[in-house]
Amino acid sequence: MDDQRMEPVDPRGTAAPTPVGEEAGEVRRFWNRLGLPGLVDVHTHFMPERVLRKVWAYFDALGPLTGGLEWPITYRNEEAERTALLREFGVRAFTAMLYPHKPGMARWLNDWATDFARRTPGCLHTATLHPEPGVETYVREAVEAGARVFKAHVQVGAYDPADELLDDAWGLLAEAGIPVVIHCGSGPAPGKHTGPEPIARVLARHPRLRLVVAHLGMPEYEEFLTLAERYGEVRLDTTMAFTDFAEELMPFPRRALPRLAGLGDRVLLGSDFPNIPYPYVHQLQALERLDLGDEWLRAVCHDNAAELFAL
Ligand SMILES: [Zn+2]
Repeated sequence: MDDQRMEPVDPRGTAAPTPVGEEAGEVRRFWNRLGLPGLVDVHTHFMPERVLRKVWAYFDALGPLTGGLEWPITYRNEEAERTALLREFGVRAFTAMLYPHKPGMARWLNDWATDFARRTPGCLHTATLHPEPGVETYVREAVEAGARVFKAHVQVGAYDPADELLDDAWGLLAEAGIPVVIHCGSGPAPGKHTGPEPIARVLARHPRLRLVVAHLGMPEYEEFLTLAERYGEVRLDTTMAFTDFAEELMPFPRRALPRLAGLGDRVLLGSDFPNIPYPYVHQLQALERLDLGDEWLRAVCHDNAAELFAL
């Protein structure tokens, strides 16, 4: 992409029109209006092409990951097109959420993610883990290789996050202050170990662990808000929350909005790009229409993550 395409769109429309795509223009107007330098998105998926194709096939087949829902992937593009699109949107930093569905896979995924982070400007080096012998070793190696964030997926991995095989790894990550984005809510489909209870057991042992509860913990929003209120290092990501898609299936209880506003410094923008059944800008509009104010939006869409990752 040429440099001109990276020029921000003037929200008042007084500057010469820039050749960003129409959708990128909408995304840029959102953060320009807030006076932000761009967005930080802590929940975007990049993984080895072969694995990503499998994930997409899974969504296409309305597998257990979707709870049997129709889930058309909006951004089914080549990797280079997907990273270019994030840059065009003005996403300053993003992650490469990847996760194993079985033992013996995490180390290989981590090697791929290390290479991806090295060759991809804006990517926050991401790693993953699974309860298995040797997990502490490869988590340590990933941290030494520069991992800034981890991803854990309790439903797909089908494990108990409080499994003692993970205990040393959680301890190491807590000590290093490295955030772990964890899909642990029971949406869109529950798993044997999803829900707040196993996470409460992890936090009881590792109260400083920087868990970022993905999807605001949907549909157990209020239980996960309670955990965030109890543990000062627990954060929540907005991924898919408040979108028309999520609200129809797993509506966020309006009575809990003041609690969400109260946690304004620990809520982080996440989108699930590229695996979303609607345009990227819809996630931003879904947050804006909550009417929690521009200060809240600035913190959520940029400042909280910028501080967490020292950007
Ligand atoms: Zn995700």
